[in-house]
Amino acid sequence: MKIYNSSTHRKEDFQPIEEGKVRMYVCGPTVYDNIHIGNARTFISFDVIRRWLIASGYEVTFAQNLTDVDDKIINRANEQGRTAAEVAEEFSEKFIGVMRAANVMDPDIRPRATKEIGPMIGMIKSLIEQGHAYAADNGDVYFSVRSDPSYGEVSGRNVDDLMVGARIAAGEEKRDPLDFALWKAAKPGEPSWPSPWGEGRPGWHTECAAMAHRYLGTPIDIHGGGSDLAFPHHENECAQATCCWHEGFANTWMHTGMLLVDGEKMSKSLGNFFTLAEVLEKHSAAALRLLMLQTHYRSPLDFSWERLEGAENSLERIATCVENLVWAANHASGEPDADRAAALIAAAEHASAEFEAAMNDDFNSAGAVAAYFQLVTEANTYLDEVGGAADAEACFACSAGIAGAFSILGVKLREPKEELPVGLLGVAAGLAGYTGDSVDEAAEVILTARAEARAAKDWACADAIRDQLRDMGLVIEDTAAGSRLKRA
Ligand code: AMP
Ligand code: ZN
Repeated sequence: MKIYNSSTHRKEDFQPIEEGKVRMYVCGPTVYDNIHIGNARTFISFDVIRRWLIASGYEVTFAQNLTDVDDKIINRANEQGRTAAEVAEEFSEKFIGVMRAANVMDPDIRPRATKEIGPMIGMIKSLIEQGHAYAADNGDVYFSVRSDPSYGEVSGRNVDDLMVGARIAAGEEKRDPLDFALWKAAKPGEPSWPSPWGEGRPGWHTECAAMAHRYLGTPIDIHGGGSDLAFPHHENECAQATCCWHEGFANTWMHTGMLLVDGEKMSKSLGNFFTLAEVLEKHSAAALRLLMLQTHYRSPLDFSWERLEGAENSLERIATCVENLVWAANHASGEPDADRAAALIAAAEHASAEFEAAMNDDFNSAGAVAAYFQLVTEANTYLDEVGGAADAEACFACSAGIAGAFSILGVKLREPKEELPVGLLGVAAGLAGYTGDSVDEAAEVILTARAEARAAKDWACADAIRDQLRDMGLVIEDTAAGSRLKRA
């Protein structure tokens, strides 16, 4: 498996630190508002990456923090006359709920910054002792960037270049404009915790370093986030962890490209800002995921409602193909053509190999999905050509391959199909004296009664059956292999 490491700018052969195990950390959200679809792009990308690592046989431990103390949360709380803890709790719950709605797997470990103050203070103390950090008179603690010879390696920056434009803001007591806060002295009315430097709260970069070390142990295999986090956030996390524990921080850095809306940066003022929750009110999670999968995770992703509608249609086409294959296999009649069946099985094997090769090439989900779009086209052609005489083995090989691939990617082809209505029992009883309690059997009885009525040219009876079914929200679909009932 090859993974692009953004700190070396190369695709590298992935070698986990511990054979068969992957420890990965993806920075979580700052919980001050509903997450937007840009955030969702990053979280869904890492969900797909995690799912593929699991499908490849790795035992993956996935940690993701919640940043539940931060200026943005404090500002929001002040605007709304609430406490920062209330705001953080509300949006933590909303985040967890909407991630599940998007079929993103829960992390194995979900630490909250406010519950990890002790380990953060421990890390800061150690950095001071080792000469990498200093406490200022006002109670802030800063990391001394020039004390870290490898500073800049994560994001490919040079310390001298960073000096251009670097400033010390009012109220900061840094020795060097490049230094960043590990601990911020409390201001009146802000949440704070006691520390050796007085009441205060941790800086954002401090959280992830301390939590990744505590829950995964450093170095970790994979550290991820959106590309906007590479500098300064990831650079600063890495500087603290390497200077504190001297083991390196992350072997592979992965960064997702930014989501754009109709080619533009998403922003509230442009009116092109969408939360994940509002998108999922209008469209399925599966369609959103499919849309995202069709662009490589490192490239910018162009979101539009038209593209999402297109993904919805593609999804329908794929799901229908799978259903038709299963139906054709279960209702096959006549001698199947062996050559055609062998060709379909070969096509399914080819799609599977292409899918795997694409995913192993830095999680090229666009290539992986394309392989199965191609198979859907071939399967549809096959079904058209063979009519009722489908080869069951070939149909099942194909349907299982398609359903399996999309399931690995976390794309549900159909929400669990609704059962046919129980009312069919009454219709079957009225039409043919059916006395059983199986709705599926009742459906067969009704379809047979209708076929008999049509064969006898009793159109009134056939129409009456159709009307009764329509009143239950059902339609009859006539296919080459027979008729079936479907929800309208
Ligand atoms: P934040 O809560 O701002 O730290 O963002 C949470 C995650 O979403 C981070 O990994 C960000 O890099 C990522 N992110 C923010 N905006 C976008 C965007 N437009 N496209 C993709 N990822 C984004
Ligand atoms: Zn982080």
